[in-house]
Amino acid sequence: MQSRDARFDGWFVTAVLTTGIYCRPSCPARTPLPRNVRFHPTAAAAQAAGFRPCKRCRPDASPGSPEWNVRGDVVARAMRLIADGTVDRDGVTGLAARLGYTTRQLERILQAEVGAGPLALARSQRTQTARILIETTDLPFGEVAFAAGFSSIRQFNDTVRAVFDMTPTGLRARARSRRHGAPGLPGTLSLRLPTRTPFAHDGVFGHLGAGTVPGIEEVRHGAYRRTLRLPWGWGIVALTPQPDHVRCQLTLTDFRDLASAIARCRRLLDLDADPEAVIQHLGTDPHLSALVAKAPGQRIPRTVDGAELAIRVLLGQQVSVKAARTHVRRLVTAYGEPIEDPGGDLTHLFPSVTGLADVVPEHLALPTARRHSFSRLVQAIAAGDVELGPGGDWERTRHRLLALPGVGPWTAEMIAMRGLGDPDAFPVDDLGLRRAAQQLGMRGSVRALTDHSIRWRPWRSYVTQHLWTALRNCQYLWIGVFQATSVPVCCSPSDGGLGGVISVGRSSSLPLWKTAPARTRATRCGALTARQRACAASISL
Ligand SMILES: [Zn+2]
Repeated sequence: MQSRDARFDGWFVTAVLTTGIYCRPSCPARTPLPRNVRFHPTAAAAQAAGFRPCKRCRPDASPGSPEWNVRGDVVARAMRLIADGTVDRDGVTGLAARLGYTTRQLERILQAEVGAGPLALARSQRTQTARILIETTDLPFGEVAFAAGFSSIRQFNDTVRAVFDMTPTGLRARARSRRHGAPGLPGTLSLRLPTRTPFAHDGVFGHLGAGTVPGIEEVRHGAYRRTLRLPWGWGIVALTPQPDHVRCQLTLTDFRDLASAIARCRRLLDLDADPEAVIQHLGTDPHLSALVAKAPGQRIPRTVDGAELAIRVLLGQQVSVKAARTHVRRLVTAYGEPIEDPGGDLTHLFPSVTGLADVVPEHLALPTARRHSFSRLVQAIAAGDVELGPGGDWERTRHRLLALPGVGPWTAEMIAMRGLGDPDAFPVDDLGLRRAAQQLGMRGSVRALTDHSIRWRPWRSYVTQHLWTALRNCQYLWIGVFQATSVPVCCSPSDGGLGGVISVGRSSSLPLWKTAPARTRATRCGALTARQRACAASISL
């Protein structure tokens, strides 16, 4: 592919008929004849069509398609649930039930749009999990097969050989020859979580670092560390930002949780985002262009656990950040499960929703009204009335949240933005947001800002993040990279990104799927929509 444009990695893959190999759009390895190239919407679709991943560009390990994050429809919800390991745990039946479809309907919808059914998508993910465990650990292959979700060692061997054209032993030997130093501690893996550039990691890491609740989160040695409650066990993750990826050190009690741990870390840091689409849209707004030009590629600080986020947002209503942390910390100490952390000072998992549903509200050090709304929220999540996981329906969840006592628009929008991952949430009555808007010369009243925000659709979550990072007190500055232990500090008051207007240089106006009709339709053999085809043609042949 001639332009070697990494921006399209993850959007689709290019398969070459003559070699039987598929690549990322940016693969530097080969320039095939146009007539021999086929485009597939997913790695799973290319694999289902009999192609093997290129050993050089590793197309099956590229960042995920941003579409599955920005869309709220059933395909996107299904893709998020599959990434979280739902098919391996609950089967296709379980997945379909979560989405309110029959398995046949779901099969048909996914096949039509991403070129592969739920089983093929899960199998492709399983293979990827197996490769990570083969290459980055010394785990015996029997355990790798089990942890990755294969039903037998034979099925594992056959699949690895078919997909990678190598035996598990060969894959491990090749990885060892490339790897410097010994593998980490047992149960610990070091991974790179790729992301598209530009990647303004200061914003998202600064936000997470500023709000850490001791016991479940900390900043240490330049990394944001936290505990993870996972389907089979628990884990500790340390995330360190780099210019085009995030270093991820993961300790798990059960390797079957690997795929969902990775998916949750990617969601936490919004790593599948498509920064170009956001920059193109917001970079032309006169009020935002300077801000966007100064730190393009903002990511939304999301969460590894929707229920935890919702509870923290609720406890953060109308109190200072410090007071909110105190409330959450008390909850963690009293009701969280204790864990051991040899690498730091983490002590607990955030309490489970079922555990919190049994809490006697009178035992909480909260005002009476807040206690009441806390109990109602926890009960609603525990009963499944409010669905905050990767498969949750954004509008329905907003509705149900707003019906709870003590939950207003600010809370619902914060949860939609950070918990559900809606790219267009807008907590317009957030004080920081309004103050930053005023600093940029906009009118800060709720009415005026709401009206003004219409032009920012469908990216208002990203506007919110840009405005937060522009605040003059800079409470979200990430300095963890430079210091062994870090406490977020104030930077100079002039550093607010409020200088002159700088135009955002665009190399070309590449068409993006985002502007395509909501439903892209891939037909048999992984053919793409006219728009996708035009886009692929413009970058490649
Ligand atoms: Zn390649």
